[in-house]
Amino acid sequence: MTLTVREPATEEVLAQIPRAGVEEADAAVARAKAAFPAWRAVAPADRARLLYGLADALAAAREDLAQLEARNAGKPIGDARGEMGMVVDTFRYYAGAPERTLGDTIPVAGGVAMTFREPLGVVALITPWNFPLTIAAWKLAPALAAGNTVVLKPAELTPLTALQFERIALEAGIPEGVVNVVAGPGSTCGARLVEHPDVAKVAFTGSTEVGRAIAAGAAQTIKRVTLELGGKSANIVFADADLAAAAAAAGPAAFGNAGQDCCARSRILVERPALDAFMDALEEHVEAIRVGDPLDEATDMGPLISAGQRETVASFVPDDAPVAIRGTAPEGAGYWFPPTVLCPVDPGDRAVREEIFGPVAVVVGFRSEAEAVALANDTIYGLSGSVWTRDGAKALRVARAVDTGVLSINSNTSVRVATPFGGFKQSGYGRELGPHALDAYTELKSVYYAT
Ligand code: NDP
Repeated sequence: MTLTVREPATEEVLAQIPRAGVEEADAAVARAKAAFPAWRAVAPADRARLLYGLADALAAAREDLAQLEARNAGKPIGDARGEMGMVVDTFRYYAGAPERTLGDTIPVAGGVAMTFREPLGVVALITPWNFPLTIAAWKLAPALAAGNTVVLKPAELTPLTALQFERIALEAGIPEGVVNVVAGPGSTCGARLVEHPDVAKVAFTGSTEVGRAIAAGAAQTIKRVTLELGGKSANIVFADADLAAAAAAAGPAAFGNAGQDCCARSRILVERPALDAFMDALEEHVEAIRVGDPLDEATDMGPLISAGQRETVASFVPDDAPVAIRGTAPEGAGYWFPPTVLCPVDPGDRAVREEIFGPVAVVVGFRSEAEAVALANDTIYGLSGSVWTRDGAKALRVARAVDTGVLSINSNTSVRVATPFGGFKQSGYGRELGPHALDAYTELKSVYYAT
């Protein structure tokens, strides 16, 4: 069976590759299982050296990977270069981990108790199409650093950089069987990894709906699961904020990666006295967004990933939708959709409540700090968010009150290699990145030594 991979900007075929199914998933798990004892036994400094070497090999391949990701995912080349930089940085960061995985000694009667962090075994990594290699790296690097072997299943729409990664890892000296990539459908290949008795853990990023199915499937074998799911993050702009800065940052936070970003601040909440001024400033920025060829250095926003995704996004903007601002998009081949801002919208509107995962943002007014917090928390999700104000105490009060895993003050950035990332509520559980991610790829063991 063949998997046809398309370029979203042209709808043309980019590659045809073998499509993995249940058999290939089983074979990959068997390879990973066989490679595990030797990989966990690699001395910490040697495992660190191998991961630094892999980071160097990824750095050398950065431009090729960026070009491939830009074409396959339809993202601007500048963004793709930034993402590949993060892939390299993530491996460098976790290359330090094997020699810093510390335990405790605990005073007890009659002897000494001590703790160890042990690897889990074979870990399945199931990833989406929006940041293909970046999200894979957030899982691969800590999983490998902790001494696990992995089977990575990238999204069928964007498997190409994952397959390149498998090759680069092998060439960089990572032993055979430690990194395995299976490019096949979630419903067969992915589901098999979730149910496989030799898989110890599933690390998943994707929709809340599939996350629910994965948690249920993994329960059969009591697998460890971490889930990074959807979001509907609030960008709270108070009237005392630097409105020019808030408006300039609101566009990229909603329309970056064509809005196909779990951290997209797609609900912009603005304090009423500042609403008109904010909308005027936002309009200028949205109209300036250059939507077009991902490989053109001047492009700010590319197409959506697929015709299906465009259809879903369009369903949130029916003919009678309250479109306040609309940018431009190319005509013809490619899954284009213009950046769009809806205002005024009812808080009960679908566009306010559901994750759109496209370049459509809503703007909602509020009158008080309490109302802003209530609106921000009125969602099943809790992944990301922002607060814009010049009042430091208010910023911290609101940051603490919003039920979300990641929050920025006077900034719309969410993700850093060194800080934990993950969701509250139905945005998932477990944390990626930062020092905490290693906990999710190890088991805590307590050993008692009678003296
Ligand atoms: P999906 O949840 O459909 O897919 C994610 C991955 O899961 C893909 O590799 C997919 O395979 C696989 N998959 C699908 N069904 C199953 C199954 N039954 N068992 C095992 N694996 C399965 O999400 P999309 O890729 O369509 O991404 C869009 C969604 O992901 C958005 O709703 C967004 O919120 C969320 N997302 C969340 C992020 C976060 O960090 N919180 C980041 C990125 C996206 P395949 O597609 O190949 O069939």
